[in-house]
Amino acid sequence: MSRRSKLYEGKAKVLYEGPEPGTLIQYFKDDATAFNAEKKGTINGKGVINNRISEHVFTRLSHIGIPTHFIRRLNMREQLIRQVEIIPIEVVLRNVAAGSICKRLGLEEGEPLPHTLIEYYYKDDALGDPLIAEEHIACFNWASPEEMHDISSMAIRINDFLCGMFAAIDIRLVDFKLEFGRLFDGDFSRVILADEISPDGCRLWDMVSGEKLDKDRFRRDLGGEEEAYREVARRLGLLQAEDSGPGEVLDLSSHRSRLRGTPPKK
Ligand code: UDP
Repeated sequence: MSRRSKLYEGKAKVLYEGPEPGTLIQYFKDDATAFNAEKKGTINGKGVINNRISEHVFTRLSHIGIPTHFIRRLNMREQLIRQVEIIPIEVVLRNVAAGSICKRLGLEEGEPLPHTLIEYYYKDDALGDPLIAEEHIACFNWASPEEMHDISSMAIRINDFLCGMFAAIDIRLVDFKLEFGRLFDGDFSRVILADEISPDGCRLWDMVSGEKLDKDRFRRDLGGEEEAYREVARRLGLLQAEDSGPGEVLDLSSHRSRLRGTPPKK
C-alpha cells in the first residue's frame, strides 16, 4: 500500500492511484467524524464493514441500471473504482424527519414526511456544507441543468430501491446522502454515482424496536456502533451470524427471532 501514491485523504476514506489510468483505489478507514469533524473517533472494523456494504449496495444498484464508480472489491478495506470528477454537491434524500431538518424546521424526529424530500448541500467543509437551492447550483455552475436532471432522477430511483431493500430486512431508510461524479469520455461526460453508501451516510432504524443502526450511535454517544454496523451487514446477508462479534450491546434478539420465524426469547 505504501508504494502507491495517495491522491486524497478524507475523513473516512483514502484515495490512491489505481492500477490503470482512469481507476482509483478507495480505502475505507475506521475513523469516524461528526458535526463537521468537531467530534472525532474510531469505530473498530467500520472500514471493513462499510467496504462490504457499499460493494453490495452499488452492485445491486448497477443491476437496476444505475451507473456507478464501483468496479470491484479488492480486499477487506479496498475497492477499485472509476476516477470521476466529484460534483461538489451532497444530495440528501429524506423519507422521515431526523437530524438537521428537525432543527431547521422544528419537526419531531421520526415524523414521516408527506413525500420524499431531496435536498442539496454545497460540499465545503470550511462553510460547514450549507444547504443550497437548485438556483445556487445553476447560478454558480456547480452542475448543469442536464446533470441535475440526471442526478435527481437517479436519486429518486435509488431511494425507491433502497427503501425496499432495507424494508425487506426490517430496516427503515430514514435519510441518506449521495455523491455523484463526472465520468469523462473525450470531450463528453456523464454523471455516475460515486463515494459510498453505508451506515456512515444513512439513517437506518430497526422497524420493530426503532433502534438506530447507523452513525447516529456515534454522533449521539449511544454506544454499540460496531454492533449496529455489523447488524446491518448481517441482515444484508454479508456476514454469518457468528461473525456478528462479541459484546452485543443492542437488544436485537426479538428481531432475530422474528426473522428466523421463531418467537422472541423473553
Ligand atoms: N450526511 C452525510 N454527510 C454529511 C451530512 C449528512 O453522510 O456531511 C447524511 C447523514 O448521515 C444523514 C443524512 O445525510 O443520513 C442527512 O443528514 P442531516 O442533514 O440530517 O445532517 P446531520 O444531522 O447528520 O448533521
